[in-house]
Amino acid sequence: MSGYQTRQTAIAAVTNFKSDLKPLNFTETSPTDVFGSNVFNDKVMKNMLPKDVYKSLMATKKTGEKMDPAIAGPVAAAMKEWAISKGATHYTHVFYPLTGLTAEKHDGFLSPDDEGGAIAEFDAKLLIQGEPDASSFPSGGLRATFEARGYTAWDVTNPAYILENPNGTFLCIPTAFVSWKGHALDKKTPLLRANQAINKAGRRFLDLFGNDDGNMVVSNAGPEQEYFLLDRNFYFARPDLMVCGRTLFGAKPAKGQELDDHYFGAIPRRVLAFMMEVERELYKLGVPVKTRHNEVAPGQFEIAPIFEQANLATDHNQMIMTTLKSVAKKHGMACLLHEKPFAGINGSGKHLNYSLSSATQGSLYSPGDTPHENMQFLCVTAATIRAVEKYSALLRSVVASAGNDHRLGANEAPPAIISIFLGEELAEIFNQIELGDLKGCKSKGCLEVGVDTLPALPMDSGDRNRTSPFAFTGNRFEFRAVGSNQSIAGAQVALNTIMADSLDFVSDEIEKLLKKKMPLNEACQKVIQGIMKEHGHVIFNGDGYADAWQKEAAKRGLPNLKTTADALPAMIAPEVVDVFEKYEVLTKDELHSRCEIYHEQYNQHIQTESALVVKVAKTIIMPSAVRYQGELAATAASLKAAGIKSITPALAEVTELVGNLDTALVALEKLMEKEDFKSIEEEAAYKTSKILPAMLAVREVADAMEGIVADDLWPLPSYQEILFIK
Ligand code: ADP
Ligand code: MG
Repeated sequence: MSGYQTRQTAIAAVTNFKSDLKPLNFTETSPTDVFGSNVFNDKVMKNMLPKDVYKSLMATKKTGEKMDPAIAGPVAAAMKEWAISKGATHYTHVFYPLTGLTAEKHDGFLSPDDEGGAIAEFDAKLLIQGEPDASSFPSGGLRATFEARGYTAWDVTNPAYILENPNGTFLCIPTAFVSWKGHALDKKTPLLRANQAINKAGRRFLDLFGNDDGNMVVSNAGPEQEYFLLDRNFYFARPDLMVCGRTLFGAKPAKGQELDDHYFGAIPRRVLAFMMEVERELYKLGVPVKTRHNEVAPGQFEIAPIFEQANLATDHNQMIMTTLKSVAKKHGMACLLHEKPFAGINGSGKHLNYSLSSATQGSLYSPGDTPHENMQFLCVTAATIRAVEKYSALLRSVVASAGNDHRLGANEAPPAIISIFLGEELAEIFNQIELGDLKGCKSKGCLEVGVDTLPALPMDSGDRNRTSPFAFTGNRFEFRAVGSNQSIAGAQVALNTIMADSLDFVSDEIEKLLKKKMPLNEACQKVIQGIMKEHGHVIFNGDGYADAWQKEAAKRGLPNLKTTADALPAMIAPEVVDVFEKYEVLTKDELHSRCEIYHEQYNQHIQTESALVVKVAKTIIMPSAVRYQGELAATAASLKAAGIKSITPALAEVTELVGNLDTALVALEKLMEKEDFKSIEEEAAYKTSKILPAMLAVREVADAMEGIVADDLWPLPSYQEILFIK
């Protein structure tokens, strides 16, 4: 089939699409019955577990007490019984390797008995520890290949659940993945460690205000997930989408997102059907998905859950990504999680709403009702200002990836410069404290607390700045630099670690002043003043997309790490190693191994993309241009033979483009030959500065060809077709 036919078939398939799926019927099974029905949740455990076992497990979950190994036996027995009653034949330890994906290895429950039958087996040992063949997961040198063993260890804090397949179901047990020496090989282990660190530092801090009541201080995440949807026929007609998740070619459509008529518009029927099924599947898994809407770009959408505690939110976000992809297939579509599938059109991010809270205090980022609470709030916010300024390069490095590079710094997503948006009123208060002249905020809508030494706080400053990478939004911060395809674990590990450090810093300083008999309020203000003097320049309430900000940020000395190659080294900077080791979140070795793995991933990524650029340009694009050239040449020749004087500008243009494409390809291939790199860092820098521009040069010529080659000869579905035919 020629490329053109493929396109026609794809379009016909899209326009004739009829779903053979039975519509969901929420009146038959109410969503409240569906919710959590496949989760081994607290309610199920309360019913099935012996009382003391249940109590002990809850203590571990709710107050962070060390797990009593004796509970594993009864829990395993109950889990097995529950899973089998739900039709499960297999169980799997689910883990999150550094590839960013979700990994699982299934084992059957059944073992032969002595009488030719089988019994279902699952015990404490199988629950607590698993041993997947780990040799093919990246370890960044932490595990010599001869010692490939890695272990999965049961994560007691997150519930087990059942996944369904038309042919059966299986039990999934969330686990951490570590090497035989206990090195973290995954995304979850450091998150669990960072959660412990933030709990300890958070409670110590609250204690200064008389608010440590034994409840844990936890971090919460509400990740808003953006994605693209397209018909699978287009997807399969585009090798670049299939292999790289993004288009490496494609001319700008006549109509892009300029009119913004898609944003928050009515959701197309087929897409809505897809969304409803995604939600139903996620309900079953207890994922509290809440909002759905169109996003800015055509074909782009968003799903957001209600926020949850960090570890659970992270597992749930992984489930959201997996479910989006699998349900899209059922509906004849493909879901793209890549950060920038289409050039010239908005990319996809994952806004990570972040807060710290305790069961009794609520969000520590909520301005309170009393002066006392407000001072606590101001101190937490000051600690955040310090953390984000001191470790801004780290925060940039944890969102670095080949895909996200296309987004950060383009004028649609937060810039690669990490700054904080506080909103005007709050910024004013911090400025006043810095100047030692606290008057409170004058603007309307302020919370008057009526104590002269204390500021009036904005209740909910309505201003929303969409251009800031780290924005205060009333009771939380929104970290917007995370990529749509990334695990949210990395960002939270970094945030919790640097926040633990900053809260401890604030506690230390306040304690010193209290010892000198300074009243608490005064001490807090003094500490905030010090933080503002040293770190206040990270606050920026203006337009983050403007060029002026790039200059201003440089003047302020804020790092502007534009690419992954620039950003990754920040992960192993001495001060980062210090803070991660101090809080026992990641050791120097573990950090170095991660940094190495992310470099390798980046290099591999660009390697694949560049190889595909060459392949598609040579075998798909060039042939169609040459065919068109031949057609034009033949026409010109017959016109000439007929004595008709013809000017064939198209022939000249195509001929020139064919020559240019060839030149660009030769240049790219020449650059790709280089292999003798001294280090992976050097290789990454080379790929960024040499390979990517050479790939773009090929694309530019190819996209120009798309604008001139006869449509019935053009092989690849166009942006117009992909984005607008639904
Ligand atoms: P918007 O698009 O206005 O930012 P959304 O409703 O799409 O708002 O997403 C907001 C996200 O922030 C949701 O996941 C929500 O649950 C979450 N969120 C709300 N309050 C908090 C909080 N205190 N801590 C963390 N996340 C929060
Ligand atoms: Mg948001």
